[in-house]
Amino acid sequence: MQGLLIINAGSSSLKFAMFEAPLAANALALFRGQIDGIGAETKFVAKDVNGATLSDTVIHAPAGTDLEGLQQFALEHLLSWIEAQKVELQAVGHRVLHGGEDYSAPVRITPEVFATLESFIPLGPLHQPHNLRPIRMLAKKYPQLPQVACFDTAFHRTQPWLAQTYPIPRKLTQEGVKRYGFHGTSYEYVSRELPAVIGAKAQGAVVIAHLGNGASMAALRDLKCVATTMGFTAAEGLMMGTRSGTIDPGILLYMVERHGYGAEELTRAIYKESGLLGVSGISQDMRTLEGSDAPEAKEAVDLFCYRAAREIGSLTMAAGGLDALVFTGGIGENSSHVRASIVKYLGWLGARLDADANAQRGKAQCISTPDSGVVVAVVPTNEEWMIAHHTSTLLG
Ligand code: AMP
Repeated sequence: MQGLLIINAGSSSLKFAMFEAPLAANALALFRGQIDGIGAETKFVAKDVNGATLSDTVIHAPAGTDLEGLQQFALEHLLSWIEAQKVELQAVGHRVLHGGEDYSAPVRITPEVFATLESFIPLGPLHQPHNLRPIRMLAKKYPQLPQVACFDTAFHRTQPWLAQTYPIPRKLTQEGVKRYGFHGTSYEYVSRELPAVIGAKAQGAVVIAHLGNGASMAALRDLKCVATTMGFTAAEGLMMGTRSGTIDPGILLYMVERHGYGAEELTRAIYKESGLLGVSGISQDMRTLEGSDAPEAKEAVDLFCYRAAREIGSLTMAAGGLDALVFTGGIGENSSHVRASIVKYLGWLGARLDADANAQRGKAQCISTPDSGVVVAVVPTNEEWMIAHHTSTLLG
C-alpha cells in the first residue's frame, strides 16, 4: 500500500499520521501517533484507525548521542516502523510554522524553497528550525521523495495592510515584525467544510474560533481571512492553556525591571506559566478545570470566555458584521459550557443557542436556534487531512 505521511515536528516531539494514497475525501488516518521526550526518555506511540494501540515503547539511542542525533534516531525509528507496516511512502507533508510573506499556499519543497524557509527562522525560532529538521533529514536520505510544506501563516495572507501592521517604528515593520497569524491549516479546513453546515451564510461575515491548548480566532469574508487574533507570534490574542495572549507590553518591562527577568524567563512566563494554568494555578486543561470545584478554576474558565467574547467584538468590526460564529479545536468542539458562556456575551447581537444541539460533542452542525441573530456552528477541525490533501494535490 502507498501512503502519505504527515509530520508535525517540535523540538522534543514528532507527531505523525499516515493516509492511504490516493487520498479519499474524509479519509481517516490509517494510523497516527507521536514520539515524545526526545532528549530524555523517548517514547514511541502509534494507534490504528480505531484508536487501538499498535506500538507503545521506549526507544533508546546509543549513549552519548547529541540532540540532533536523537532527533534523527527518532525519525529513523518511525521510518523503519512504517516499513514494517508494509506502507510505502509516496510523499511527506509537513506542518511548517512560517511561510513569511512569500507563501500564501502550500509548496513542494526544493533546495531553493528550503533555503527560503530557513531564512524565516528568526520569525519563529521556537518552531521553525524543528519543523524544517525532518525535511532536511528526509531529503538527504531519500532525494527523490516528494515533500510538501503547509504553513500555519498561509491562510492569513489575505489580511489587509491595516490588519497586518503594528503601530511600531517602521524600521521594525520593514524587518518583518508584522501580524502573520497562525492555525491557518485549521481555518482552511473549517472554512472548506462550512458551506455544507450553514449554507450561504458561510460567504458572509464569519468568525471561526479555534479553541484548543493554543487558541485563536479569524474573521472571514467570502471565506477569506480579513483579520486574526494571533500576530507576529502565537502568543498574541486569546488567553490560552499556558499562554497569556494579549497583555500590556508594560508588564514585560515590569518583569524585566522589577524581577530581573531575561529572555528565557520572559518566554517561560508568557508561553508556559500563564493562561488557564497561570490564572487557576491548577491546570492548563479545560476539562480538568471544568471538573474542579476550586474558585480559581472557575475564575480561569470565566476569564477565558470573557476575553474570547471581547475578541469576537473586535473581529465583528473587522468583518463588517457577524453572520456566523464557528467553534473548532479541542475546547471549541467539546466544551458546551465554554460555547454557551461565549455566546451569552453575544446576546446583544441576538445570538441564541439551541441547548440540545449545544449539549452534543464533536459533531459538525448548527447549534443556534432558528431565530438566532447569529448562526452558531461547530465544525471539528482536521489539520492532518488538510495537509494530506495539499500534499496529494501538489503531487498531481
Ligand atoms: P487541542 O489543543 O485542540 O487538542 O485541545 C485541547 C483542549 O481541549 C484541552 O484544554 C482539553 O481539556 C480540551 N477538551 C478536550 N475535550 C474536552 C471536553 N470534553 N470538555 C472540555 N474540554 C475539553
